Amino acid sequence: MNKTIVEYTDVKRPRNMYPKLILSPSKGKACCAQNMEQIGGVEREENRAYCYRRCRACGYTVRHFLSAPPPDGPSGSWEDETSTLLKLVG
Ligand SMILES: [Zn+2]
Repeated sequence: MNKTIVEYTDVKRPRNMYPKLILSPSKGKACCAQNMEQIGGVEREENRAYCYRRCRACGYTVRHFLSAPPPDGPSGSWEDETSTLLKLVG
């Protein structure tokens, strides 16, 4: 289940209403490679970090997944700590 604020449409005009909604054309064009800029900050979905990138020229927007975990990300996972605590209690 992907949670995204990007709505791809070729009917409505491109619009940036971040962080609520971004209307994007369904396809990128040649302009996008040169004009992509980051919208907002880095978001997290489960273990993946991503940010929205939007083309200044045409409004094409993608979720850009970051390959490396962010430096301030939780390194030892929260689940690990929780299960350790549960074992201690049980
Ligand atoms: Zn573009």
